[in-house]
Amino acid sequence: MSLWILGALVALSGCGTGGSLAPGDDAGRPGSLARDAQTDVEVWDGAGPFDSGEPAPEARPDAGAVLGADAAVPDASVPDAAVPDAAVPDAAVPDAAVPDASWPDAAVPDASVPDASTPGCDGGGCASAVTRFRLPMQNDNNEYIRPIVVGFDHDPAESVFGLCADYEDRNVPYCYDGHKGSDFLLEGGFETMDNGSAEVYAAADGVVTLVHDGEYDRCRAVGLEVQCPGYAEIPPANRVEILHADGQVTRYLHLKKWSILVEQGDYVTCGQLLALVGSSGHSSTPHLHFAVRGVDGVQYDPFAGPLSQPASSWVEQDGPNGFPAPVCQGGL
Ligand SMILES: [Zn+2]
Repeated sequence: MSLWILGALVALSGCGTGGSLAPGDDAGRPGSLARDAQTDVEVWDGAGPFDSGEPAPEARPDAGAVLGADAAVPDASVPDAAVPDAAVPDAAVPDAAVPDASWPDAAVPDASVPDASTPGCDGGGCASAVTRFRLPMQNDNNEYIRPIVVGFDHDPAESVFGLCADYEDRNVPYCYDGHKGSDFLLEGGFETMDNGSAEVYAAADGVVTLVHDGEYDRCRAVGLEVQCPGYAEIPPANRVEILHADGQVTRYLHLKKWSILVEQGDYVTCGQLLALVGSSGHSSTPHLHFAVRGVDGVQYDPFAGPLSQPASSWVEQDGPNGFPAPVCQGGL
């Protein structure tokens, strides 16, 4: 590797999702959002420890102790100073350890064919409306998010260090090999997380289809790998998944322990507070991994661009510093 690549990666961190690759899959999204045939896709399969007898997490503390109260989190005693965050690129650490959640969930109402009364539908034919998303993380005055999105890797080559291409065909640090999501990194790392962290929001209206909380949330890069001090193996990420009116699913990973405020089956509205940013699961520094599953069951890049689909799935793409705007569908 060249030193400039290594230097650039020092500023990075990331995470990822599991699932098997289906490089030949060129299934299109509904409407005009046909997927580019060269777009790298990944199947969001249903297998994973969440479905197979994973031990139940410990009891949740009182709700009042959750937000901004790290004293309630025993893991806060682990010092950060000895381990600078984001010291290592994620390309060296496969994401296969991150389990996928089952889909669909029988307890969730079928939202694939929304009717006119479905919240979140815009006018002019709700049944064919495509859900679009807002920035899913707090970004007041750019205080909480580092000014770069570590995005979805469209380069078909896998397991090649440093080889990736984001939606605009940019390499490191805009992506890393095999990454199938968009990482919004917490400015200030663990120090900011300990001072209250940043908020994670629902990207659009929908039904919460999965919640997993109670996992260790201070995983970090140590040397060339992600480690979770005190754990021989990386625990699962604290996470939320939301089913939207058009059948798309968004997932929010690496959340802070016991910060999740919603439950499975809840109806949430765009911009609703879901949880706080953490570093649980396969994560080298506090950040939000935001991923979208299309109605065809395949994860895709919500950013539009030459290597992605022509229409953005963000309500507004390229806001300040290239971020999606914190604006909900319908301008709310
Ligand atoms: Zn990620």
